[in-house]
Amino acid sequence: MTGPKPLMRDVPANELAPLLQRLGQPVYRARQLALWLHRAHALDWETLSDLPRDLRVRLADLYDLQGLFPGERLTAEDGTRKFLFRLRDGAAVESVIIPMENHLTFCLSSQVGCAMACRFCATARGGLARDLTAAEIQEQVVHLARDLAAQPPPGFGARGFNLVFMGMGEPLDNWEQVSAALNVFTAPDGWGLSPRRVTISTSGHREGLLQLLRLPQAVGLTLSVNAASPDLRRRLMPVSARTPLPQLLELAEKYARRIQRKVTLGYVLIGGVNDNLSEARALAALAARRPFKINLIPLNRLDDDRLSPPGADQVLAFQRVLLEAGLQAYIRVSGGQEIAAACGQLRQRRQSPTPSVAGSAPGEGDLPAKQGDLTD
Ligand code: SF4
Repeated sequence: MTGPKPLMRDVPANELAPLLQRLGQPVYRARQLALWLHRAHALDWETLSDLPRDLRVRLADLYDLQGLFPGERLTAEDGTRKFLFRLRDGAAVESVIIPMENHLTFCLSSQVGCAMACRFCATARGGLARDLTAAEIQEQVVHLARDLAAQPPPGFGARGFNLVFMGMGEPLDNWEQVSAALNVFTAPDGWGLSPRRVTISTSGHREGLLQLLRLPQAVGLTLSVNAASPDLRRRLMPVSARTPLPQLLELAEKYARRIQRKVTLGYVLIGGVNDNLSEARALAALAARRPFKINLIPLNRLDDDRLSPPGADQVLAFQRVLLEAGLQAYIRVSGGQEIAAACGQLRQRRQSPTPSVAGSAPGEGDLPAKQGDLTD
């Protein structure tokens, strides 16, 4: 049995012209094809109306144009739209459109599942199934852009969108495909987005950060910290914490100086776990007087877990410690809670229609029995 055809969007831009020449076509067809792929959001060979019919047939014999198939689309009251896409092998990934004050943000997945095993994350539950290809990453943007065009949110107009790799997966663990997708997003012949509109979020993948330092495009970076003390960070982020936080912050600082923009430190606040003021002080000591700003994100509660967000007073007290240390610290509340907007949560619900209770979740055997045990 043969597998699926390669996806057309996985062919690098510089290989389109040689490919079309091999098919007996003039070089300018490459530009036409690129426009269909990246500007016209084409998903069906029939729609590529300025390409000769016999060329479309030959390309369709060789490549698939569509690798993601819309499964579910949920809309929250605050305008957040969450999508579950089926891939050609039956796997599923999520993407989200998040309305911000002045623009929209597309939150993209980079992998099916994730190997980083973060304690508070739904995506981590099933481990890593596979990497997404560059085409599958790009196609999330195609579908989201088509959805916006079909149903523009009120006042959307020409505000455009930003891209953040904060969906399922650790983007720096799939660097080859993510960087190929970044090339398309920022190339003038691709989506033509400014690198400033793209942000990579990492749990602290050291090798990936070293590669990011060599990336020509100055994309934004968020480093997910979640605990300043090494033991607690290891318990919350068992894989990423293998590299000590001070080393990761050094790399992040180097990157901030290279792109001449602050790196964001992400901190998911979990009630009774990492929200105490000694953690805040330790975080302040690590981050003060460096090119960082901090986003505090009260936990999005998961279906199969007893971890919960702190109360508002504790969130404000944590923030106050950071502000008093001279840091920029913002509280970010995740939107769309009623539509399972936590990363991987919708996929997890669809995989196990009856949410399991704490104590029966995959991997629970490795975890403390009670939430409070994480702070021991
Ligand atoms: S938080 Fe991010 S890096 Fe950690 S398991 Fe979830 S998807 Fe992976």
